[in-house]
Amino acid sequence: EAAPETRSFEADVAKLLHLMVHSVYSDKDVFLRELISNAADACEKLRYEGLSDASLLGDDGQPRITVTLDPKSRRLTIEDNGIGMSEAELADALGTIARSGTKAFMDRIAGAKDAEGSQLIGQFGVGFYSAFMVADQVDVFSRRAGADSAATWTSDGLGTYTIRPVELAEAPARGTRVVLHLKEEAAGYTEDYTIERTIKTQSGHVPVPIFLKDAQGSEPKQIADGAALWTRAKSEITADEYKDFYRSAAGQFDEPALTLHYRAEGLHEYTVLAFIPETKPFDLFDPDRAGRMKLYVRRVFITDEAQILPRYLRFVRGLVDSNDLPLNVSREMIQESPVLAAIQRGVSNRVLSELEKLAANETAAYLKLWDEFGPVLKEGLYEDFSRRETLLGLARFKTTTSVGEWRSVKDYVADLKDNQTAIYYATGNDLDRLATSPQLEGFRARGIEVLLLADPVDSFWASSGIDFGGKPFKSVTQGISDLSLIPLADGAPPAAEAASPSVTGFIAFVKATLGDAVSDVRPSDRLTESAVCLVAPEQGMDRQLEKLLAGAGR
Ligand code: ADP
Ligand code: MG
Repeated sequence: EAAPETRSFEADVAKLLHLMVHSVYSDKDVFLRELISNAADACEKLRYEGLSDASLLGDDGQPRITVTLDPKSRRLTIEDNGIGMSEAELADALGTIARSGTKAFMDRIAGAKDAEGSQLIGQFGVGFYSAFMVADQVDVFSRRAGADSAATWTSDGLGTYTIRPVELAEAPARGTRVVLHLKEEAAGYTEDYTIERTIKTQSGHVPVPIFLKDAQGSEPKQIADGAALWTRAKSEITADEYKDFYRSAAGQFDEPALTLHYRAEGLHEYTVLAFIPETKPFDLFDPDRAGRMKLYVRRVFITDEAQILPRYLRFVRGLVDSNDLPLNVSREMIQESPVLAAIQRGVSNRVLSELEKLAANETAAYLKLWDEFGPVLKEGLYEDFSRRETLLGLARFKTTTSVGEWRSVKDYVADLKDNQTAIYYATGNDLDRLATSPQLEGFRARGIEVLLLADPVDSFWASSGIDFGGKPFKSVTQGISDLSLIPLADGAPPAAEAASPSVTGFIAFVKATLGDAVSDVRPSDRLTESAVCLVAPEQGMDRQLEKLLAGAGR
C-alpha cells in the first residue's frame, strides 16, 4: 500500500476553513444540508452519465443517501451511491475551491467585520468545508463509478490533508462516504431525533431518497422519499417547503422574494420552479455573468449551463424540467435544440410578466427587488432589444423631483412640461453628487424632471438611442436646443438670445485661452447659479460614457 501523501490546501481553502471554524456563524446545522446536497448531486451526476453508459450503474440502479449515527464513537456518516471520486478528483474537489468569484469573495471577507463576515459566508455558501464547523476530523472514502480502485481523503481542517489509496472493502461499492469525527460540543448530531428533524426540514425534497440508521446495524429508516418537489401540485406545497427547497437547491441562505411554480402545456411541456432571492447572490457581478437555472429532462438533471434565462435575469435560481427533450441529449447538442429555444423564450417572458404583476400589485415588494437587482435588469436594456419596452416599463429611477422615491418612465412622461420632447437624464457615479450638479440648474429652474443614473450600466443603455413612447432619452450634458423653448418655473422669460457685449468679450477670452481643448464656448441659459459648465456635443458621446470607456482603456 502506498504511503499517505500529505498536501496543503490551496490558500483560499485555508482562509475559508479558518473563517468557518472561528466565525460567529451560528447556524451550524447547514453542514448537514451541504453534505446531503453534495450526495444528491453525486447521484444526479451518475444518473446522467448512466444514460449513455449503463454499465456505470451495475446492478445498483437505485440512488440513495444513507446517514449513520454512532453516538459511542461520536461519529456521523453520510454515504451516497452516486458518481464517486477518483484519487485525483478527491484532491481536486476537496483541496481547492473551483468556484468562480472566490477570490473577490475572499477579498470582501478580509475587509469585513466579524458579524458581516459570517453573513458573507452565508451568501457564499459554505459547501463541503462546513463539515469542519462540527468535526475536528473528516474522512472521505470514495470509489468512482466504474473504477476498480478506491481512495481516502483525511483532514483536521487546519492546513493540510492526506490522500491514499484504500482496499475496495474500505470504501463504498460505488460513491462516497463522508465520516465526521464530531467535536465534543457537536455530539448532539448523533441523536436520532435531531438528525431526522434537521434533514427533513433542510433537505426533505432533494430528489434522492434519504435513509437513517444507527451504527449497530438497525434497519435503515426512510426519512425522505426523493420525490422531486416540483412534480407535486402547487396547492399541496407549503411556503416552508418551497423555502427549504430553495435553500438546498440554490445554495442560498435567505428567503425567496418571489416563488414561481408552474407547468407549461401546449406545444412544449415543462415544469418551472424558480425563485428570486431576497438579497444579491455573492456571484452576481462575476465577469462570466452565468445563470443558475438547472435543466432537467423527466426528472433527470442534465446541466446548469443551458442558459435558460438571459444574463440580465441571472439572479433567478431554480430549474426547468422538460418532458419533450430527449433524455439522451448531450450537453453540447442541447444548445442547438429548438425545444430549448422555446423553453428559454417561454420562461424568460414568464419571469418578466411576473415582475410586471408584482410591480403593479405589490409595489413595496417590487421596489425592494428593484433595489437589489435593478442594476442587473438594466443590462437587458441594451442586450435584449426584443424585450426593451418591457424592461423599460419595469425600470425605476431616482430623479431630481422624486425626493428619494422611485419613479417609472411612465410617471416621468405623464409629468412632461409643455414643449418638452425628451426624457432627460444625468449620469454619474454618485447619486448625491449628481443631484447637485450644475448641469441640472437650467432644468431645475424650469421644473423639468431629470433622471439621476448612478449605476455603471446606465451610460450604456441610456446613450444607445433608446426612447419611450417616441420620447428619446437625452443626456443633460449634451447641447440641448429645446431648453430655451420651455419657460422658467417662476414665470421669468428665458434668457435673451443675444449675449451682452461684456459676455461676448469674456467668451472670446475663454476661447483664446482654452484653444483646442474645447470645440466651442457658448452663452447658455441652462445655468442659473453656476458660472460655467462642461457639455458634450449634441451628437457626441455622453460624458459619463466617455469617462467609463477611457477607464476601460478603449
Ligand atoms: P459545490 O457542491 O458547490 O461544488 P462543495 O464544497 O460542496 O462545493 O463540494 C466541492 C466538490 O466536491 C463538488 O463540486 C464535488 O465535485 C465534490 N464532492 C463533494 N461531495 C461529493 C460527493 N458526495 N460525491 C462526489 N463528489 C463530491
Ligand atoms: Mg456542495
